[in-house]
Amino acid sequence: MGKKFETEVIHNGYESSQFEGSLVPPLFQTSTFTFATAEQGEKRFAGEENGYIYSRLGNPTVKVLEERIAVLEKGEAGLAFGSGMAAVSAILLALTKTGDHVLCSQGVYGCTFGLLQLMKEKYHIDHDFSTMENKEIIENAIRTNTSVIYIETPINPTMQIVDLQLIAEIAKERGIPVVVDNTFCSPYLQNPLELGCDVVIHSATKYICGHGDVIAGLAVGKSEFINTVSKTTLKDIGGIISPFDAWLLLRGIKTLPVRMDRHCDNAEKVYQFLNEHEMVDTIYYPGDETHPQKDIIQKQMKKPGGIFSFTIKGSKETAQHFMNQLKLIKIAVSLGDAETLIQHPATMTHAVIPRDIRLQMGIDDTLLRLSVGLESWEDIVEDLKQAFVAISY
Ligand SMILES: *Cc1c(COP(=O)(O)O)cnc(C)c1O
Repeated sequence: MGKKFETEVIHNGYESSQFEGSLVPPLFQTSTFTFATAEQGEKRFAGEENGYIYSRLGNPTVKVLEERIAVLEKGEAGLAFGSGMAAVSAILLALTKTGDHVLCSQGVYGCTFGLLQLMKEKYHIDHDFSTMENKEIIENAIRTNTSVIYIETPINPTMQIVDLQLIAEIAKERGIPVVVDNTFCSPYLQNPLELGCDVVIHSATKYICGHGDVIAGLAVGKSEFINTVSKTTLKDIGGIISPFDAWLLLRGIKTLPVRMDRHCDNAEKVYQFLNEHEMVDTIYYPGDETHPQKDIIQKQMKKPGGIFSFTIKGSKETAQHFMNQLKLIKIAVSLGDAETLIQHPATMTHAVIPRDIRLQMGIDDTLLRLSVGLESWEDIVEDLKQAFVAISY
């Protein structure tokens, strides 16, 4: 039996005795690997002998990370990429061909949206968005040419939830793979593979790194599929991670459960403050007692997470004025860092979406998204409090 999550994040995939006793996985900052003989090179290329060839095809530091994420996501095999988008594109391109259709959750990350547009325009791979609210809606949205179902949950920034178990059941009957971008939850809060989904993707840039100093991606799934991606859309398109970034991720991931607990606790406190504030209208937080999908949240998420959004009473200018008053909280996109970050979806992460569609998605001009950091929650609340006071004059 495997060890607990808190132990696996520190130890899995690494055996110090194989590396001169080095406590920490060594950084193999090398592009290529030498062969002892020409015959050895021949055998490695033929797949008849295990061993490294060239770092785009595999690297020992990267391998530790890949084994570790596979175990944390309860999957068979993992793969690391140079960015979350490199992971998304390699997985989607591996699962589609011209004439296929991708069924997506109501909201997807902005650049994923851009990639889907590109796939449609250049390769005639169509896509649709669905609320996926119940069985009937899902079944009606699936087409005969649907070759992949692609989900984000909670959906950024309005925190709607997709029932992963339900989707997986419906997809399994039809043999359609379900891919989940699990970035917002990290493997600590949600494990889609356990619920029957097929592939999990992470922008490791966010919670997995946790320190705001790396851009990287990860994917986990069945060995056969991950192997194929490794030898095709990763190797040949080339979106690999650098060994140094893999090394930094191995350093960051050790504290993932400790950080996630604090992110979640802090978010709850900050939510409580905002929920009672007279200048706040609506809050979108998976931990909200009145969240319409509370049952699904309790079923598939360990905790409500560290991110939520809220609308401020007033206009776009009020929202921007409020952001400008913040001192501790930084104005930045990205999430999952030690620093609390705030952003304005209508003019930042979701600016490319036409205004009417954006409004339908609940992305009002007064909506702000907060990624609650690891600072003292009292200081975060204090900063928000003084900004509210400053804009009321
Ligand atoms: C940031 C993000 C991505 C893209 O990841 P990069 O590492 O920036 O390429 C994809 N999906 C979600 C949900 C994200 O937050």
